Amino acid sequence: MAEFPKQTARDSSSPLEIVLNQLACPACLGDLRIDADRVVCLACARVYPVVDGIPVLIADKSGLSNA
Ligand SMILES: [Zn+2]
Repeated sequence: MAEFPKQTARDSSSPLEIVLNQLACPACLGDLRIDADRVVCLACARVYPVVDGIPVLIADKSGLSNA
């Protein structure tokens, strides 16, 4: 099992975090944050999956319902 090399102090942001800085929640346009292997909206608490390192930001597929 390969282990990812430890990051140095020069850059503490993962590529996914950098991508998320460019994106917003499709439901409420809130800020997104990585939570393990998921993406969580800080504004509405919707949870989106991350597939192969790519956040799947589809509001209809999220686990939260406003019903
Ligand atoms: Zn949201």
